[in-house]
Parts: sequence; structure tokens; C-alpha cells
Amino acid sequence: MNPDPVHPIIIVAEQFSDSKNFIPDELLGAAKKIQRFYRGPVKVLIITGDSKAAAVKSGRETGLDVIVIRVPGLTGYNGEIYKAVFSEILQAMHPAYICLPHTSWGMELAPALAIRLNADCITAVVNITEQENRLLFSRFICNDKIIAKMNSVADRTVLTLQPGVFTAGKKDDTGHGSIEIQTMAAAPRHIKSMGITAPVAQDTALAGARVIVAAGNGIENQESLALVRHLAACFQKAAIAGSRIICDRGWLGYGCQVGVTGMTVTPDLYIACGISGAAQHVSGMNKSGYVIAINKDPNAAIFNATDIGIVEDLALFIPAFIRICQQE
Ligand SMILES: Cc1cc2nc3c(=O)[nH]c(=O)nc-3n(C[C@H](O)[C@H](O)[C@H](O)COP(=O)(O)OP(=O)(O)OC[C@H]3O[C@@H](n4cnc5c(N)ncnc54)[C@H](O)[C@@H]3O)c2cc1C
Repeated sequence: MNPDPVHPIIIVAEQFSDSKNFIPDELLGAAKKIQRFYRGPVKVLIITGDSKAAAVKSGRETGLDVIVIRVPGLTGYNGEIYKAVFSEILQAMHPAYICLPHTSWGMELAPALAIRLNADCITAVVNITEQENRLLFSRFICNDKIIAKMNSVADRTVLTLQPGVFTAGKKDDTGHGSIEIQTMAAAPRHIKSMGITAPVAQDTALAGARVIVAAGNGIENQESLALVRHLAACFQKAAIAGSRIICDRGWLGYGCQVGVTGMTVTPDLYIACGISGAAQHVSGMNKSGYVIAINKDPNAAIFNATDIGIVEDLALFIPAFIRICQQE
């Protein structure tokens, strides 16, 4: 690591709609955590298509120095273009740290940028700490059961930050950041975006539920969802939810998905049935009043986020629990 911290910490963002808070506040929070140790300036790099207005507005709200890269004709993520454009710009900025979200595009882009920039790459970071004058990046391994801490000794490190785990960073209220706009021409040769489909907004009972019974991959088949529904029926004002796997399979609608790309829920009681406890799921339910998890693996990560952990097969525990409820 360069001992003279003059190199910037760069937040990489994209803007393709007029939504206001497009720069994930958590990226800002993570970058500021790095800055407390490594005192380089935090800057924001935003890629956008024909219209630059929304990107400029969002960038200005950070109060940081912002570079908006306008790529005429670009309508959304395109790996080829992002890699070409960002590697060229970043090469010239000499950053020490490059922060991307651990989303599908961040996951694809980070290793490619690291190779092009001759940088280290640490993905799925869930915490940033300082130890013995070194910056440590934590991430889950072994199906989220173990936390590994990594330190980068390279001059340049590309990071992807897990959404839903970092505290939002305070916007720079000095508000004197500069806005620089660059226009770059880039056309994909191999990958063509064929459009995007926004999910249909669904009403969900999760928001008003006092008890949520959530089904995970441990239910094993769609028929077992009936068991989870029967369990939910034991409680008043209860609703059923699912982990992403369950919603991706279409066993429940996306309006029922809990987690970083689904709903954030805060019921009085959350019962996780056959859910491993991935950070992306836990960040959507860890503010629940009381959490119970049923999982046959005693080392499942979900037990780190629960008040009561039941190590048992769902097929045995749930019917037994329902029987007792019915007797009472
Ligand atoms: C960018 C990104 C965003 C994501 N967003 C979300 C999100 O919003 N929400 C979300 O949920 N996930 C999300 N994910 C996916 C997440 O990483 C996990 O893959 C997912 O949460 C795992 O679902 P699961 O726990 O149901 O399944 P698994 O990880 O397969 O876990 C199944 C669990 O069931 C247990 N089990 C198996 N059989 C039984 C049985 N008979 N009885 C009891 N226990 C049993 C197993 O021990 C295991 O712990 C996201 C991932 C990425 C990369």
C-alpha cells in the first residue's frame, strides 16, 4: 500500500432512471469507513446514457467530487461497455480503492476491472475494520457459516460491498464537490441488451403482518409449502414469506421475498423454516422483534440471527408444533 494517501477512494454507480437516491447510501458508508483509515478523498463515478440530468442531480447531492460519464445510446448495464469505459477512466484516476455494489453487475465488473487495473479484488465484503494498522475486509465463506478477514497489500483494490449490511454514509454537507461530465462513445460488439422487464408491483401481506413464517430451500418441494402455510395459520395476523430461491422458483411471488432485493420486514415474530441465513436474507429480517429458526444443520448461519434455534427436520417439527397448537 502506498504510504502517502493521496489516491482517491472511488464509488462506482450507475443511473438509468430518475430515481433520486440511486447512489446506494451504503456504498458511501463503506467508502467513509475506508477513509477513516486511508485518508484519500472519496469520489463518485457515475455512468449514464443519453440524459445526464438525473446523474448530475444525484451526484451533486453527495457533496463529493463526481465524474459523470455519459455514453450516448447506452440504456442500461452492458458488461462490455462498462468494462471498457470504467477501466479507461479509473486508470487515469489512480484510485487506491474502488467500491462497487455486490449486485449482479458489480460481481461481473469487479474481477474484470481488477485484471485490467492490475489490482486486488475482494468480493462480497460485509464489514470493514482496522487491526494492527491494517484495513481488514470481512466476508462470509462456507455457506455463510464462517467469516474470513482479508487484507490487501496491493496499491489498488477493487471491492464489492454486500448490500443491506453497511450503515448509510452521511452525505457531505459542505456540498462543494465538483461535477465533471465526460462523454465517451462506446458500442458493444458481443453483448446486446434486449431490454429490461420491471417486476409487476404486487400487494403483499408482509407489511402489516405481526407474525411472518418464511420458507427457505429446506422445504425441498413446493408441496411442503402447505406445511408452512399451516404453521402460519396457527398465529393471528400472520403472513408467509420466502427466501429468494423460493421466489425465483415461482413457489411464492416476489412480493413475498424477504431480503436485500426483496422486502425488509419487522414483525413481532419471524419464523425462518429451512433458511440458511445468507447475509442478503438476514438483512431483510434482522430487525424483527423475536426470531425463531428451524434448521436441521446445527451450524447454519441463521442461528447467529435468532433468539431461539430449533435443530430439527422441518417435516418432523412443523407437524408436531401444529398438533400441539390444535390441542390447545
Ligand atoms: C445480489 C444478491 C441479492 C440477493 N438477495 C436475496 C434476498 O433478497 N433474499 C434472499 O433470501 N436471498 C437473496 N439472495 C440469495 C442468498 O445469497 C441465498 O442464496 C439465499 O437466501 C438462500 O436461500 P435459502 O436459505 O432458502 O437456501 P439455502 O441456502 O439452500 O439453505 C437451505 C437451508 O435449509 C436447511 N434444510 C435443508 N433441509 C432441511 C429440512 N428438511 N429441515 C430443516 N432444515 C433443512 C439447510 O440446512 C440449509 O441451511 C441474494 C443473493 C445475491 C447474490
